Amino acid sequence: MTTIKGKVAIVTGASSGIGQATALALARAGAKVAGGARRTDKLDALKAEIEKAGGEAFVQKLDVTKKAECDAFVDAVVKKWGTVDILVNNAGLMPLSFFKNMKVDEWNRMIDVNLKGVIYCTAAAIPHMMAKKSGHIVNMSSIAGRVVFPAGTVYCATKHAVTAFSEGLRQEFSQRSNIRVTCIEPGVVDTELNNSITDASLAKFIESTRQMESLKAQDIANAILFAVDSPHYVNVNEIMLRPTSQE
Ligand code: NDP
Repeated sequence: MTTIKGKVAIVTGASSGIGQATALALARAGAKVAGGARRTDKLDALKAEIEKAGGEAFVQKLDVTKKAECDAFVDAVVKKWGTVDILVNNAGLMPLSFFKNMKVDEWNRMIDVNLKGVIYCTAAAIPHMMAKKSGHIVNMSSIAGRVVFPAGTVYCATKHAVTAFSEGLRQEFSQRSNIRVTCIEPGVVDTELNNSITDASLAKFIESTRQMESLKAQDIANAILFAVDSPHYVNVNEIMLRPTSQE
C-alpha cells in the first residue's frame, strides 16, 4: 500500500527525461502531480498522459531561474490542491566544457538553473511544509555532486552545491519541522542532457556515454519513489546510483 496516494507533488523539469519519468511514476502511485518547465507543449502532453491513466495533473510554464515564476507556480498549486507535500527539484542542464574555453554564458546558466532554481523553488514551497510540519524535498544532484571531472568544473560545482544545500536543509528542517530531504546522485542516464554541450572537444566523451549501457530515466524515478514512499520516520538522505559499467 503506497503512502503517496493523494499527496501533492511538484516536479520541476517535468518536460523530459528524469522529470517526466518521475512525474508519471508519482501519478501512477496516486499523487496529484504538478509539472513545471519551459516547453509547455511537452507539459500538456504529460498532463494528457497522466489524466488518460486516471490521474490528476496540473502543468504551468516554469522558468526556475525566475524567482517570481517559482513563487507563482507554488501559489497556483496550493490554490488548486491546498498544499504541497513533495517537491522534486529536478530541472537542470549540463553544458560541460573545459574551463579554459571560457563559456561564461553557460557557466551562468548552469548556476542559475542548477543551483538558484533549486533554492528558489525550495523557498517557495517550504513555508507550506513548515506550516503543517510535514513534507519531502528531493533534490537532483548527480555523481558530479560527489566527484569532480575535468570538463565538469562548473557543473560539478553546481551539483556539489546542491548536495551541500540538501544537507543544510536536512539539518534545519528535518528534526524541527518534520520535513524529509533526499539528495539523488545519478551517474549517466540516457536523456536529452548531453544536448546542451557545445564544447567540440567533448565529442569523444559524448560518444563514450552513448556506447555505455546507461541508466534509464525510469531507474531514477524508481529511486525517488522509494525515498518518498518510505514510512514517515525514514529519511532517505542520499541515493547514489551509477550504471554498472560506469567508472
Ligand atoms: P533533460 O535535458 O531531459 O531534462 C532537463 C529538464 O530541465 C527539462 O525538463 C528542461 O525543461 C528542464 N529545464 C532546463 N532549464 C530549465 C529552466 N530554466 N526552468 C525550468 N526547467 C528547466 O535531462 P535529465 O532528465 O537528464 O536532467 C534532469 C536532472 O538530472 C538535471 O538536474 C541533471 O543535472 C540531473 N542528472 C542527469 C544525469 C544524466 O546523466 N542524464 C546524471 C545526473 C544528474 P525545459 O527545457 O522544457 O525547460
